[in-house]
Amino acid sequence: MSIVGHFINGASNETHSRLQDIYNPATGEVSRQVAIAPKTTVEDAISAAHAAFPQWRDTPPMKRARIMFRYKQLLEKRADEICRLIGQEHGKIVHDAAGELQRGIENVEYACGAPEILKGEFSKNVGPGINSWSDFQPLGVVAGITPFNFPAMVPLWMYPLALVCGNTFVLKPSERDPSATLYIGQLLKEAGLPDGVFNIVNGDKEAVDTLLTDKRVKAVSFVGSTPVAQYIYATATANGKRCQALGGAKNHAIVMPDADMENVVNSLLGAAFGSSGERCMALSVAVAIGDDIADELVSQLKDRMSSLKMGVYSDKNNDFGPVITREHQQKVFGHITSAEQQGATIVVDGRKTQVSGYENGFFVGATLIDNVTTQMDSYQAEIFGPVLQVIRAKSMQEAMDMIDEHEYGNGTCIYTRDGEAANYFADYIQVGMVGINIPLPVPVSYHSFGGWKNSLFGDLHAYGPDGVRFYTRRKTITQRWPSANLREGAEFSMPTMK
Ligand code: NAD
Repeated sequence: MSIVGHFINGASNETHSRLQDIYNPATGEVSRQVAIAPKTTVEDAISAAHAAFPQWRDTPPMKRARIMFRYKQLLEKRADEICRLIGQEHGKIVHDAAGELQRGIENVEYACGAPEILKGEFSKNVGPGINSWSDFQPLGVVAGITPFNFPAMVPLWMYPLALVCGNTFVLKPSERDPSATLYIGQLLKEAGLPDGVFNIVNGDKEAVDTLLTDKRVKAVSFVGSTPVAQYIYATATANGKRCQALGGAKNHAIVMPDADMENVVNSLLGAAFGSSGERCMALSVAVAIGDDIADELVSQLKDRMSSLKMGVYSDKNNDFGPVITREHQQKVFGHITSAEQQGATIVVDGRKTQVSGYENGFFVGATLIDNVTTQMDSYQAEIFGPVLQVIRAKSMQEAMDMIDEHEYGNGTCIYTRDGEAANYFADYIQVGMVGINIPLPVPVSYHSFGGWKNSLFGDLHAYGPDGVRFYTRRKTITQRWPSANLREGAEFSMPTMK
């Protein structure tokens, strides 16, 4: 059985306190084992990053950017292998893996602009003969802790930008599908990154806790579930670190009576069931305004769902694959059963759907649940499976209140032809990312990604301009070179511009 190890100081390393099975979710079989790093191995990775920092910090941004240009080319050249690894351990279909990788590469492209994005701010003549400027300097060693659902894209949200800003990095990927993350991380060496600047340790809570408490780590980026995000944020900040911790989600789509129904149905099918609903931006609740529109929506979705194709990653014709583990499959089934027991209507039931030849896979069929209410446990929870719930509301304001009252505020969207309604929604909804007739409003790499409420802990969003601010700290320098005609006497009052 092959072992997925670590990448420390430019070398592979399989040190472990134990080995943990990695599954192929389509077959239900163990495919590899991941080395769970003991504390000392994580400390070795931090030491490597700490030692590499002084020289990397002083490397000109253009040189750092050139490594990212080569890195982008390598990611594109090796895309098939990367997507295969994603498919084998995550289960998503090859076209979806390619989409994930492309969105990740776009973050590398943004990082290629390092000399431009690190230019800083300059003001001449803030006083007689005085100039002032702000530098954006790196923090030192920063850590990233990432979830299973985007083993390439979410790590790529973090380290390309952190590295071009002059930091060194230790990444702790998800232990459930670490192979693609390790593979793309190692390509940085081939792109010319000096050893020690980027390191990967595989592990569990012990590895994470070491990153959260070691004094040499200056900042932590986390993406994962909300309870863990809360823990990461509280522990990292209590240990004096800068932290951004992105958490879970429950994303609602409001379907207004004037919406383009064909667009709504197409959008909802892809955004609810794509990637088996295992996306933090998945649309998992449709709020239909009025019973007529709700009946129409449910009827059209039901018809279209009968032709969805669930299966294995290698077949491009499949729409989505299995969920990540047997436990998660059972958890999703539990949410469907709970909705049923609490009075909702199961319109399409994915609990018994199987894929021929893959009966032991962790599959959950696409499920549609109508007549859901906000009191139901399945509404309150993030299901993270191919389950779409329909709620019937009387007005847009009732739907907006519902969204605002939910603990999560990651993404949302509205389907309408009414520009005034859409603008009101975008202005006032208490959610960080908003779509207007767009189902998955994931910001492009030159904007920033983040939710509100319990979907994000910290002040800055991920990647893009907020990412640059997160991975740098401002230093403002005020300078004068005194000359005879500018020399002033001693001043005892607060200096002001006279
Ligand atoms: P998770 O919280 O279980 O794990 C995320 C990371 O935290 C992993 O690396 C894991 O090893 C580590 N971890 C888990 N438990 C820990 C603990 N007790 N102490 C310290 N570290 C721990 O999340 P997941 O199941 O891998 O990913 C799915 C979740 O991530 C969903 O809730 C999804 O919404 C969320 N997510 C959010 C975003 C976003 O941008 N907001 C993006 C992707 C995924």
